[in-house]
This record gives sequence, C-alpha cells and structure tokens, in this order.
Amino acid sequence: MSKIKIKRFDSRREPTSIDMEYPLKDGLTLLSLLHKLKNTLDPSLSFSGVCRSSVCGSCSVMVNGKAQLACSYKPCDGDYIEPLAYHTVKRDLIVDKTKTKKTLIDSKAWLQSEPIATNAPKIELQSSCILCDSCFSACPVMAVNENFLGPFALTRVYKNTLQGEQNSESIDAIQTNGVWDCTLCGECTAACPQGIDPKTDIMNLRSKSVQSGYSDPNFANMSFGLDFTMG
Ligand code: SF4
Ligand code: SF4
Repeated sequence: MSKIKIKRFDSRREPTSIDMEYPLKDGLTLLSLLHKLKNTLDPSLSFSGVCRSSVCGSCSVMVNGKAQLACSYKPCDGDYIEPLAYHTVKRDLIVDKTKTKKTLIDSKAWLQSEPIATNAPKIELQSSCILCDSCFSACPVMAVNENFLGPFALTRVYKNTLQGEQNSESIDAIQTNGVWDCTLCGECTAACPQGIDPKTDIMNLRSKSVQSGYSDPNFANMSFGLDFTMG
C-alpha cells in the first residue's frame, strides 16, 4: 500500500491534512486516484477535473510544492497534495480562479485582430494555454506582491503584440505590477504543461515596452556609484 497526504479545507474548519492509503498500480493518475478515494474512503473529498486529458486545465493542484495537472501526474508514495497557491480555496482542492481571470482584464490582454502569417507558429503555441493557472501558482513574486499581473496575463499580452496591430493600451497597462516586477526566474516556464514560455515572453515584452518609450523603473533607484547631487 502507498500513502498520500491531502490538505483538506472547508469554510467551517481550520485547514487539516488527511492521509489516504491506496494500492500501487502502474499508470494510475492522481485524478483517477482522487476519484477512487472519494468513492471508497471519503465522499466529501472535493476536487476539480473535467476532461481527464490535459485540455480543460481545471484539475491543477500542488504536489510537493509544484503545480501539476492531476489528470496526467502519476502519484508516488508520500506525495503531499494541496490546492493551487495564491488562490482562495473554496473546498479541499477546489480554488476560486476569479483573480487570475481578472489579471487578463487588468492587463487588457484580449485578442484584437487576426494573427499575421509570420508569427503563426508562436501564436499557435500561445493559444494552447489551457488556463490551468500552474504558472501563476509557481511565481514567487505573487508571495510578495498580490497585485502582480503574473505570467499568465503577461504571456497573453505578448500574444497580442504578435497580432501586428497597435496595442499601446496593453503595453501601458503592464508597466505597473507587470513586466518590470518579474524576476525572470523561469519558474512559470518550468511549470507550464503546454510548453509555453512566459519568461521569454516577458523579456520580449520588456523590449516592446522600451520601444514604446518606457524604461525599467528599477534603474531609477540605482546610483551606479555616481553622485548627481549639486553642491
Ligand atoms: S519568470 Fe517572472 S513571471 Fe515567471 S515565475 Fe519568475 S517572476 Fe514569475
Ligand atoms: S501559460 Fe501554461 S501554465 Fe500558464 S495557465 Fe496557460 S497552460 Fe497553464
């Protein structure tokens, strides 16, 4: 028998963890295991998961501190399963994704035109986003700045810039709590199950911001060893 630990929560109780035992079986996914545990051990266990084929993005959870799609992750003995980070927990592993959807509105990350042919492969890759929020949950900046737009919204804005039309509204919208707040750590890229690379998109967005007349506000606070005081 193997054992996983699951973080439990509902609005009436403090968060707790329970250990659940299951027989090892090749190919068993975490989502299948959660269904089995719910059907056999605890009907109150709550989690999301619709398509079971890495398309809907609804089953993402944290496993040992890393975001994973439950429908593709193969559980191991001793795994600790938690809800996605930086989200309000509704019950057990179910989270409210309203906040991440709001980042799309705040960053004005919406499609504006048909893609131009030369960028079609890049846009196609971006379009494969399944809204799983794994990148958002992997981002360490969210721990210190809850208003950071996050990788999910920023990579969407970059997609818009590939459309080949004016998008100054989006570039304006990502200057505060956006491109310059990213540390370029790459955790979002490592977490994405779809092979999307938000870190590189954010670096490209910085270039586009400079082309639009913006500069890195962090430079304004650096002295570079020079004293500009008038005496
Ligand atoms: S590269 Fe930037 S957006 Fe991605 S996880 Fe790191 S800080 Fe967050
Ligand atoms: S960019 Fe990748 S990790 Fe982020 S929401 Fe989309 S599919 Fe998920």
